[in-house]
Amino acid sequence: MKLYSTRNVNIVASSKEAIIKGLAEDGGLFTPNFFDIQDKKLKIEDLLKLSYKDIAKKVFSILLSDFSEEELDKAINGAYNKENFGPYSETVAPTTEIGEDFLLELYHGPTSAFKDVALTILPHFLTIANNTIDTSGNKNQNHKVYILTATSGDTGKAALSGFRDVDGTFITVFYPTDGVSDIQKLQMNTSLGDNVSVVAIKGDFDDCQRLVKEIYTDKTIKNLADENSMIMSSANSINIGRLVPQIIYYIYSYVNLVNNKKISCGDKINFVVPTGNFGNILAGFIAKLLGTPIHKLICASNKNNVLTDFINTGVYDRNRPLYKTISPSMDILVSSNLERLLFLLSDSDSDYIKSLMNELKEKGRYKVNDKLLSQIKENFEAFYASENECREAIKEAFEKDHRIIDTHTAIAYSCLKKYKNKNGTLCELTRRGDLTRRGELCEPATVILSTASPYKFAKFILPCITCDPIDNLDDFGKMYKLHDLTGEPIPENLLKLKDMKIRFDTTLSYNDCKKYVTDKIKSISLEQSLKKGQL
Ligand SMILES: *Cc1c(COP(=O)(O)O)cnc(C)c1O
Repeated sequence: MKLYSTRNVNIVASSKEAIIKGLAEDGGLFTPNFFDIQDKKLKIEDLLKLSYKDIAKKVFSILLSDFSEEELDKAINGAYNKENFGPYSETVAPTTEIGEDFLLELYHGPTSAFKDVALTILPHFLTIANNTIDTSGNKNQNHKVYILTATSGDTGKAALSGFRDVDGTFITVFYPTDGVSDIQKLQMNTSLGDNVSVVAIKGDFDDCQRLVKEIYTDKTIKNLADENSMIMSSANSINIGRLVPQIIYYIYSYVNLVNNKKISCGDKINFVVPTGNFGNILAGFIAKLLGTPIHKLICASNKNNVLTDFINTGVYDRNRPLYKTISPSMDILVSSNLERLLFLLSDSDSDYIKSLMNELKEKGRYKVNDKLLSQIKENFEAFYASENECREAIKEAFEKDHRIIDTHTAIAYSCLKKYKNKNGTLCELTRRGDLTRRGELCEPATVILSTASPYKFAKFILPCITCDPIDNLDDFGKMYKLHDLTGEPIPENLLKLKDMKIRFDTTLSYNDCKKYVTDKIKSISLEQSLKKGQL
């Protein structure tokens, strides 16, 4: 399957090339064509007996079609194993019940964030691609790959963990100084590995993301990288290798619901997705194109509701303040992957997408045409939840459903209530037990994507579920307190943080970051040469 730059369809790449490059030369995002995906539609009936890994292999062989079967096996087994997912190595992302709805638990990976699902496998895709094809034009294979990653918290740690000591790769993570939680900061700054580095930027997440995109398209840096046999790449969801692994759990969740007799095969269901950069929910849309019976993808935003406005009106307007919320991974005003949705739905009209993105850059605003808007509305609904509604949701899930959910999942939980209010309450017939009618006449079953372990955000969650004083507790004391109240085990990787050494404490202003990257390229090269004894 060919991948095209969203801003110029004449820029074409195979999946291996796209994974190595991260971003297209013109700043566009490598994306398949709508009809090429639909042509490869899967039959859900054929997937019912398959494991998570089997489904992954089927989907990868469609969308990452230049990877051989052996290469896919190697990547899949290297990612979804006991070392990374412990007791969840077979299921990876189980679907459980929450009240009358379902929770797709995506946080059982090595850093307790949903981003692990993709970032455990991306390093394998990348090294396989780098060892088997040559993107540089000269015959020097085995280029070093330098990965820059902007993070609002969770991507950073998951990427640092995934790429730790992966041969031939180097990674720098940029996070906004005040835009991530203390635990997230600690997770990143204690990262192990000789090939990793972490920089705090005085700015917000959008600054970090803009910086990374700017560096990729910077000619001087590109030349310097070339001279040093280095390829710049990305671990952000602008990399197609991040996006594709996220499609699997939508399909797998559907299959689970059928196998557990919660729905009949063919019934349409909804997914509610706590959304920031639009990567996760876009993966859901591709799952739909691949044949998963999805009624609506419900885009849940926090107070930074730029996507809610866009999906409801067709106007994307980033000219507004960025609020800091208790769901920091969604504090974003420019959702990169939306560009891919526009490309897919406009039948690969890259000139049109390019003009929209130029408007966004120049005026901070664009409006899509009516045809595109109606296609978006056919597939998506959008709501947002305030900080108080988020807290209410945590309380309600705990008291009513006996589930403890993190602040991002709570945004989705709250938005699902709004969706139900708007679309009428569930009719009696669709209550669990009457399977024949569900999804036909009445509201479909709905799955909430649960994107982080609540233990990463214990500080915000505790006040929602208890009146006990917590000010005297440090972050770990808060984790234990949450454990005492809920009985749910604390993930090992979070407990371990307590005894780990801080390795990184660099803070830079936006303008100093390019120099940081330039110096880094030089120092990596020097080190490599010394190692090889070339100097
Ligand atoms: C990254 C993240 C999100 C947002 O996902 P996108 O793919 O950026 O839309 C939501 N919740 C958590 C916990 C995250 O880390």
